[in-house]
Amino acid sequence: MSEKTNLSYEKKTVYDQAGSKVVEEAYDYAKGYVKYLDAAKTEREAVCESVKIAEAAGYRAWNFGEPMKAGDKLYYNNRGKNIFLFRIGTEPINNGIRITAAHIDSPRLDLKPVPLYEESGMSFLKTHYYGGIRKYQWLAMPLALHGVVIKQDGTPVEIVVGEDENDPVMYITDLLPHLARAQAGKPLNDVFSAEKLNILVGSRPVEGEDKDKVKMGVLNYLNEKYGITEDDFLSAELCIVPAARARDVGFDRSMICAYGHDDRVCAYPSLTAMIDSTDTTHTAMCLLVDKEETGSDGVTGMQSSLITDVIDEIAKAMGGNAAAVRANSKCLSSDVTATYDPNYADVYELRNASLIGCGVSICKYTGSGGKSGTSDASAELVGWVRRCLNEAGVVWQICELGKTDVGGGGTVAKYMAKHNVDTIDIGVGVLSMHAPYELISKVDLYEAYRAFKAFYQF
Ligand code: MN
Ligand code: MN
Repeated sequence: MSEKTNLSYEKKTVYDQAGSKVVEEAYDYAKGYVKYLDAAKTEREAVCESVKIAEAAGYRAWNFGEPMKAGDKLYYNNRGKNIFLFRIGTEPINNGIRITAAHIDSPRLDLKPVPLYEESGMSFLKTHYYGGIRKYQWLAMPLALHGVVIKQDGTPVEIVVGEDENDPVMYITDLLPHLARAQAGKPLNDVFSAEKLNILVGSRPVEGEDKDKVKMGVLNYLNEKYGITEDDFLSAELCIVPAARARDVGFDRSMICAYGHDDRVCAYPSLTAMIDSTDTTHTAMCLLVDKEETGSDGVTGMQSSLITDVIDEIAKAMGGNAAAVRANSKCLSSDVTATYDPNYADVYELRNASLIGCGVSICKYTGSGGKSGTSDASAELVGWVRRCLNEAGVVWQICELGKTDVGGGGTVAKYMAKHNVDTIDIGVGVLSMHAPYELISKVDLYEAYRAFKAFYQF
């Protein structure tokens, strides 16, 4: 007696398809993710946290020119802002490397090089936004300052203010509705100017100063607490991020709202899946990169030659040919996509949208209208990934980011593909993407972990 062939395709939820045991595991797994989120709000902090997790699993720092052999678990820390982790397999290196690539930078406000000024009894810090933000979302809420100041002699001074409950927070003022009549009639883009995203940091004047008494109060505080002066801002990377912690959302606690799900919601499962996927002969890599939100430029972004440098070095050390290694490698570009939001249904195409709770999302292509700016994974690669995930029982869905011609977005996929590495986008769906607090589903997060693990081991 033969079973009836299922002729139609239908998306199923993790709850229906994987069952309650997997859902419980997902809730449990999410606890580690929440810790990672709260400890790692910037790319520098994400590198530090990832090193801690990797070292606890036996990974050690590696540098160019140092030997490596099968079984080695290594990481290359690139300037404290991105990190490549890799584990050398026992099979021939020319078989290629299983690579996941996620980013650890998130949209935020960076301080300008000369940020501090005083006006009308208030002292402010000027900012230049980083990545694609909707400016009004950052107003009138508690904000924290994270980053590093490099003093002239090279000494780094780490600064985090606004995370401890006893810390003060930072704040950007907003216009009161009573006086917003003129503003209310204007288009969104004209109303919120980048030069108004000024961080309020003081209003108490100090005695014994002739001018800028409030600003001097701020400088006195910074000098006492951190030993820095105003010109130390010139060589600093200081970021403004939302001050609150990640929280469970919903009576069923099925979701998490937090700053920076994009793309830590893929970085964390990539990292933990690589560490946990020990039952394999493949060489594996996990790339956690910087600068994705601003175009992947710079020495810590995906467009840097570091990826080819590291693959060259591995190929050489393991007696392979670097070009062959790249040609036979596969990469999951692990980045978020937009979850279908019924409140804004008109920007999605429901049949090809990522649905909450339906597992990890694969995007064959990203980019925008007419498939511009995408590496577009081949049907062969999608077929391979499909077999890999289905054999491991992973719940997954395929999607596009919104309706054609409504907008679009890119990932690091095309920069990996440039190196002749077969690359496909896969990641977790996010609601309110790029907002100060984004939202994800715990079961979708867990299916990303299970997908990455299946990929490393398949
Ligand atoms: Mn992203
Ligand atoms: Mn993004």
